[in-house]
Amino acid sequence: MKVNISEIPKAGLFLEEISTGKDLDLGRKDLEFNDPVKMKAAVNREYDNVLIHLSVEACGEFLCGRCLEPGNYSVKKEIDIIRPLSDGKVIDITKIARDEIILDYPLKLLCKVDCKGICAGCGNNLNKRQCVCSKEDDSNRGIEID
Ligand SMILES: [Zn+2]
Ligand SMILES: [Zn+2]
Repeated sequence: MKVNISEIPKAGLFLEEISTGKDLDLGRKDLEFNDPVKMKAAVNREYDNVLIHLSVEACGEFLCGRCLEPGNYSVKKEIDIIRPLSDGKVIDITKIARDEIILDYPLKLLCKVDCKGICAGCGNNLNKRQCVCSKEDDSNRGIEID
């Protein structure tokens, strides 16, 4: 959604757009947006500025960076933006919304903050099961001694 500043009526404008993660180029190697991305914007002119109240909603899916379990990453944001009229004739609100979503991406996507990950030795998901490496080591040692 784009707004031509000269076409904003006195009463303001309300814009709505439903897009996809693909169209918005939101995907990251470890994060996919398969659900629709919803954007709404109320646009008003005030003196020498354009005021935009933007709301963005998106939900992505990822595999946890530690244990590889699937997780959901949801974005829900309400932002107020002020642009001076001198900035140009057209404001690309979709691009602003996209930038807002990407801005919040965490460096590493985890199923939970304290995810224990997978043991490199026994391959167990340590959130669900205990590591069995040390037990195996003990039994091996037992066999050697015998
Ligand atoms: Zn995890
Ligand atoms: Zn282990």
